[in-house]
Amino acid sequence: MKICVLPGDGIGPEITDQALKVLLTVAEKFGHAVELDEQRIGGSAIDATGVPLPEETVEACKGADAVLLGAVGGPKWDTLDPAIRPEKGLLGIRKALGLFANLRPAALFPQLRSACLLRPDIVERGVDLLVIRELTGGIYFGEPRGVEVRDGERTGFNTMIYRESEVRRIARVAFEAARKRRRKVCSVDKANVLDVSRVWREVMVETAAEFPDVELSHMYVDNAAMQLVRDPSQFDVLVTGNLFGDILSDEAAVITGSIGMLPSASLGESGPGLYEPIHGSAPDIAGQDLANPLATILSVAMLLRYSLGLEEEARTVERAVERTLDQGLRTGDIMEPGKARVKGSEMGAAVLANL
Ligand code: NAD
Repeated sequence: MKICVLPGDGIGPEITDQALKVLLTVAEKFGHAVELDEQRIGGSAIDATGVPLPEETVEACKGADAVLLGAVGGPKWDTLDPAIRPEKGLLGIRKALGLFANLRPAALFPQLRSACLLRPDIVERGVDLLVIRELTGGIYFGEPRGVEVRDGERTGFNTMIYRESEVRRIARVAFEAARKRRRKVCSVDKANVLDVSRVWREVMVETAAEFPDVELSHMYVDNAAMQLVRDPSQFDVLVTGNLFGDILSDEAAVITGSIGMLPSASLGESGPGLYEPIHGSAPDIAGQDLANPLATILSVAMLLRYSLGLEEEARTVERAVERTLDQGLRTGDIMEPGKARVKGSEMGAAVLANL
C-alpha cells in the first residue's frame, strides 16, 4: 500500500505520527508492505513554499492508494490573504482528487457514555451511525449565485441544484457503505418543498433497486435533525446533500461529546480517498503531547476499510482502540473521574500494545 501522509499544522504531526505507527504495525501483522510518502499542506507548506498546496503534494496524493491527513491552520496564518490561507490547501486537495463523498461516522463508545450529551435512557440504546454528505455539488457550488440590487434593495441568491448523475453516485456510496454495516440507508431531503429534493428522492429509489439487500427509507431534514437527538439508535447510514449534510454531520458528531474520537473519510469515483480526524489543528495544545490521537487512528481504520478493502485489519485497529478505552486510559479531552490521564503518545503506545 502506498500512503501519502500530510501531517499539516498544530497537533497534526503528533497525531499522524501515532496513527502511522498503528498503520505500520497492523500492516506488518497481516503481511502487507507499506510505502509512506510525507508531503506538506496548510501553514507548514506556506512557510516552506509560499503556497498551502504545492504541486508536488497534489502529484504525490494522486499517485497514492490513500491519503492520511492531520489538520491544517493556526493563528500564525490567520492574517494572510484568504487566497493563500491554510484551509485553501484542504479545499484544493479535495477538489484535485474529486472527493465528492464525505463519510462521517458518529459512534458512541460504551466506555465514553458519560461524555454523551443526551439523556441516559437514550444513550442506553446506543449511537452508531454514518452520515454521508455530498461534498462537491448542491447549493454551495450551484450557479447562478451572487449579490445584486433588485427593485432598489440588496438581494443575495444561490442555487440548489443536483443532476441525477451526482445523486446516483452518492447513492451508490451510501448503499455500498450500508453493506459493510447494518444494511439500512435513510435518505434525507426536503422533498415536500424543494424540486431539487424530488429528483434526489426519485434517483435514490431508482438506485436502491441495484441494492435489494439494503433497506431504503426517506426523512425530511427538519425531522432528521430532531430524530438525531430524540433517538439516534434508529439510524445506520444517513445520506444527504451538501447543505443538509454539513449541518447534520456536525449535529451527529457533537452528541457523542468527544471531538478527539471522530474520524472521517472523503471518497472520489476512483483514485485515492482522503482520511482525517474531524477536529482541527488545536493550536491551544499543540506541541505539548496532549492531543488525543484516537480520531486519527480510527481514520486509519477507515482507510483500511474503504480504500484498501481490508475489513479485518480495520476491525483489528478498532478493537485495539476499544480495549485501550476499556483499560481506563484517557487523554484530557475525554477525561472522567476515576480514570488514568495519559499523554497523547501514551495513548498511542497503548493502542500499539493492544494491537
Ligand atoms: P479545533 O478542532 O482545532 O479545536 C477545538 C477544541 O477541541 C480545542 O480546545 C482543542 O484543544 C480541542 N481538540 C481538538 N482536537 C483535539 C484532540 N485530538 N485532542 C484533544 N483536544 C482536541 O477547532 P478550532 O479551535 O476551531 O480551530 C483551530 C484551527 O484548526 C483553526 O486554524 C481552524 O481553521 C483549523 N481547523 C482545521 C480543520 C481541518 O484541518 N480539517 C478543521 C477544523 C478547524
